[in-house]
Amino acid sequence: MSLSGRTAIVTGSNSGIGLGIAWELARAGADVVLNSFTDRDEDHALAEKIAGETGVAARYIKADMSKGEECRALVEKAGACDILVNNAGIQHVAPIDEFPVEKWDAILAINLSSAFHTTAAALPVMRKAGWGRVVNIASAHGLTASPYKSAYVAAKHGIVGMTKVVALETAEEPITANAICPGYVLTPLVEAQIPDTMAKYDMSREEVIKKVMLERQPSKEFATVEQLGGTVVFLCSDAAAQITGTTISVDGGWTAL
Ligand code: NAD
Repeated sequence: MSLSGRTAIVTGSNSGIGLGIAWELARAGADVVLNSFTDRDEDHALAEKIAGETGVAARYIKADMSKGEECRALVEKAGACDILVNNAGIQHVAPIDEFPVEKWDAILAINLSSAFHTTAAALPVMRKAGWGRVVNIASAHGLTASPYKSAYVAAKHGIVGMTKVVALETAEEPITANAICPGYVLTPLVEAQIPDTMAKYDMSREEVIKKVMLERQPSKEFATVEQLGGTVVFLCSDAAAQITGTTISVDGGWTAL
């Protein structure tokens, strides 16, 4: 299956899952647009590396996904958008009565509202091109909850709901919208949670990984960024043309429990 001739925008793709998805889309032949809010030399170098190793066109475009106008400008600057992967996301963990208001606002803006803005900007481009795929990176926390993650769980449930609406609004067009719900994937976002959890439960790194993080993941293994990239590529294939408005869990059995 080749995605040659398609252009994919992956938000929040200078690290972790987004970068893994960009690599797999490029390996499948799609031109890719990397994004983050940082605009460092390393960000542009990542795009050059992908282009050099896969032969596709790859670019980095800076846009802060917490700002609606920058989300929309990202799609405009890309010039094409056949595949939109809304991946940018942040996390903060605190009891709801102590949850910092600015963290709540940032999580809702980056993990949910950014996808509203990019999708609104991308759908007219997809309609003009006569084909489109919207893939939202939700989470097992889009389907279940955990304590201390009020903003994240609210945003991820929200993006699952929005995915269904986009699917219904495009149902009679050659455009699909789906959400992928990963369980734990070892990325910088997850890595950053390990020290706090170690301190909180007075556990070793190994204990935190097996007993806390992967406690709800029956496979007892992290999902990989390559597996998530492969799932996005599948959703872009002809085999997935009638898959729309749904969630695909890549969670080692988490949501089966
Ligand atoms: P990560 O921290 O490695 O990557 C997050 C990405 O978002 C980075 O590229 C970062 O630059 C970008 N980003 C953050 N704020 C941004 C902003 N304001 N504007 C633009 N880009 C911004 O984390 P990750 O684990 O790869 O997470 C990626 C997505 O996957 C998130 O939506 C996350 O909620 C989701 N997810 C992750 C896991 C996991 O276990 N890692 C599980 C389920 C869902």
